[in-house]
Amino acid sequence: MTPRTVTLPFPRRPKYGDAEITAATKLLREGRLSDVGRGPAIAALEDAFAALVDTTHALSFNSGTASLHAALHAVDVTPDQGVVMSPMTWVSAITAAFHAGSFPIFADLDPDSPNLDPAGLDTAHCSAVLVTHAWGVPAPMHRFTGFPVPVVEDCSHAHGARHQGRPVGSWGTAGCFSLQETKAVSGGEGGILTTSDRLVYERAMTLGHHPRRLAEELTAPELLPLIEAPASHKFRMPTLAAVIAHEQLNTLPARMRDSDRNLAHLTRLVENAGLPIAPVPIPADAVRGWYGTPFTLTTPVNDPAALHTRLQQARLPIRALYPDWLTTPLLSEAVLVERHWPHMRGRWTSPRPQDFPNYRRFRRQTVVLKIPDLPAPDYIEQVAAVLATTLRSS
Ligand SMILES: *Cc1c(COP(=O)(O)O)cnc(C)c1O
Repeated sequence: MTPRTVTLPFPRRPKYGDAEITAATKLLREGRLSDVGRGPAIAALEDAFAALVDTTHALSFNSGTASLHAALHAVDVTPDQGVVMSPMTWVSAITAAFHAGSFPIFADLDPDSPNLDPAGLDTAHCSAVLVTHAWGVPAPMHRFTGFPVPVVEDCSHAHGARHQGRPVGSWGTAGCFSLQETKAVSGGEGGILTTSDRLVYERAMTLGHHPRRLAEELTAPELLPLIEAPASHKFRMPTLAAVIAHEQLNTLPARMRDSDRNLAHLTRLVENAGLPIAPVPIPADAVRGWYGTPFTLTTPVNDPAALHTRLQQARLPIRALYPDWLTTPLLSEAVLVERHWPHMRGRWTSPRPQDFPNYRRFRRQTVVLKIPDLPAPDYIEQVAAVLATTLRSS
């Protein structure tokens, strides 16, 4: 008898294991939860990220949002020319463009992926391009090179992912990673900016780090006047977040391997059953990241909301898509944009949903499944069986 709903609990590792608890306890006993300079906990995490991403520098922040804000500030985005990005991202990647003194210019997705389409971007009339590796699917970064403007990668769904063998976060002028609790590497909250451009590293630092750290590290003559009194936000990462995230990096390879096996198992089962669903493919030489895994429904979905309700009722492990930011009041009512960001007065044009056919199709035809990150063959088999009954009855 095939169950109509998933009855097994979602298999999970403890979000924070003994190593995280030991590291956090040690720090508490030492009584050192804040570092104004580049102290040992912060340095260890930054060095580990620079090694993972293969960049010269990694700079910690208290959120992924702050790291995006700092990256866009560091590459010098302007109020006159916006930041090209796709709407398939978290809202703070969008608002970071406003916070950095610029604004988002939305462009459509690639027809076959959740990522920005590099073809036909008007890079002559923007100040940067922001590429999100959405739902862990690495964007084709080799097609985002040679632009006249800097490219910033949002790697918040893609810790450890690679494109053409090279880590995401190392292709663009800067990469940004969220370490928020739902992400594959978590400090509770936190963010990391990766770059091999010394000036970008230093400029990003001036936006949110302590004068002590600026005094220790700044070398660019035009930045030196900021040492005493940075024009600063407070974007430093607490040391507790740093030691926890550092431990999470140690288990990342094993978690990625187990997720991969589970996804391969599920893919085989749905293929063999001939179900009208398949994971968004990635190239053979790519490594995907993990933040929910997008599956394409291969037959037209007429009522996506009803489908999601049915999948949810069947207790399938669904992650909701982000709201549609193109139609959210903040971005569709110019008065709200102008109230929050005075540099936008008289400048904001709301996006028109009809200009984003691939994005709209992706939203209609995609379900995002959570894949367990530990061995879970029984669970995967049950998910495949319940998918079969749910999709066949629709
Ligand atoms: C989580 C996330 C962010 C924001 O990160 P926070 O750490 O929550 O500030 C930005 N972009 C994407 C794509 C995200 O998923």
